[in-house]
Amino acid sequence: MAFMPGFYAFPGGQRDEADAQVEVDNAADRETATMIACAARELFEELGVLVARGAESLTKGQLASVLDDLTSARMTFVGLLAHYGLRLDARDFRFAGRWVTPPFSPRRFDTLFFVVRCPRKQEPRVLTAEFESGGWTTAREAFERWRRAEVMAAPPVVHAVRTLAGGLTDDLFERFLGVPHAHRRPVRAIEFLPGFVCFPLRTPTKPPATTTNCYAVGTRDLLVIDPGSPYEDEQAALAGFVKGLLNEGRLLREIVLTHQHPDHVGGVEALREQLGGNITVAAHRLTAETLKGQVRVDRFIEDEDLIELDGEPRLRLRAMHTPGHTRGHLSFYEERMGALVTGDNIVGVGSVLIDPPEGNVRDYLATLERYRHLPRLVALFGGHGPAVGSPRAKIDEYVAHRLKRERDILAAVRAGAGTPAETVARAYADVHPRMRALAERAVLAHLEKLEEDGLVTRDAGGRFAARHG
Ligand SMILES: [Zn+2]
Repeated sequence: MAFMPGFYAFPGGQRDEADAQVEVDNAADRETATMIACAARELFEELGVLVARGAESLTKGQLASVLDDLTSARMTFVGLLAHYGLRLDARDFRFAGRWVTPPFSPRRFDTLFFVVRCPRKQEPRVLTAEFESGGWTTAREAFERWRRAEVMAAPPVVHAVRTLAGGLTDDLFERFLGVPHAHRRPVRAIEFLPGFVCFPLRTPTKPPATTTNCYAVGTRDLLVIDPGSPYEDEQAALAGFVKGLLNEGRLLREIVLTHQHPDHVGGVEALREQLGGNITVAAHRLTAETLKGQVRVDRFIEDEDLIELDGEPRLRLRAMHTPGHTRGHLSFYEERMGALVTGDNIVGVGSVLIDPPEGNVRDYLATLERYRHLPRLVALFGGHGPAVGSPRAKIDEYVAHRLKRERDILAAVRAGAGTPAETVARAYADVHPRMRALAERAVLAHLEKLEEDGLVTRDAGGRFAARHG
């Protein structure tokens, strides 16, 4: 999916205005009819499966030409249904839940799920570029693949395959609808991969992000990474969630910090207090130093330290000292799962700020390079936004973005820009005035790297100039 690359999903899409014109027999109301029309149209466009009464009398060739009429826009969906004497019937679309996306996502989705039977003699095949590939599998196999961390999927998809894997029993739809999230209660805790639960918390962070991801990692032994919210209601929600896990028998090993920024540590002391005060907080030594007087760090984590978490499956997190965004930034890698907790070095929404002297572009590029060489990568768990299901493409994109910036900035200096402000004015004229100060910090970080590389010089007054020859 474009929205969540690397994720597995069911066919579907956004409603068209024209969906409201489609008549649907036996629909409870107009809204339901419109959503069923949307589902039927998307299913036909994406997989070539037409769930309509009367479609059984069409030959394969006729069905193909109907589809061609639709995708080439010779006919609208409502038009072709009328033309071929086909009717949609709500009884063919069993309602299986309505889910909304969690608050961290820049695009909010409010999605209805339906279960339909594939009509006889129709063969689904992937027809849209919106999907990279697709195929038939049993629900049980799909669920097992998710449990083995071979595929990523969003919570309603995981719920659906888990429900279907339980068998096509009489209580199938009760099981589909038996969770509050199937009735538009936003999912707070998102288990993207087994043992990696993301709990987004509202924080005062950098737009467009509005939340910071706190992670609960482990299937029995538990780590809580970056409880960052300074807001009492969010702290209470997180404490409630963690206590729930402890009541289920999990054991909290410690609270771990990726780095010191306020939106990642704002709730550490509150969580420690709410859990009885006896919880260890661990971070890199450099992070601990910057937090003196605000957060008590009890244990230092070094590069290559291993954190073993008992459970089923057992997890083995390798700590990586990955400076760039801050000097003491830590990442955590679980090789068997292919899971990498990237903190603010790579995020699922927005961009990464490199702000000197904590931020350093050269270190940052080295960190991205180190990520790139990890042997198995299924998912990146960043500090903000959804998990990234196409890790290598994302890392490449980040590197390319940095190198392009560097070229733009060097070109601006060669054209006469001598300060970060002049460089921003020349290279990033479209920056919003409110973001200008941040942009200048980011440019300074690049200028410092170019200076280290010997491509620009800085005079006693602090003006930068391109080195010639
Ligand atoms: Zn940060």
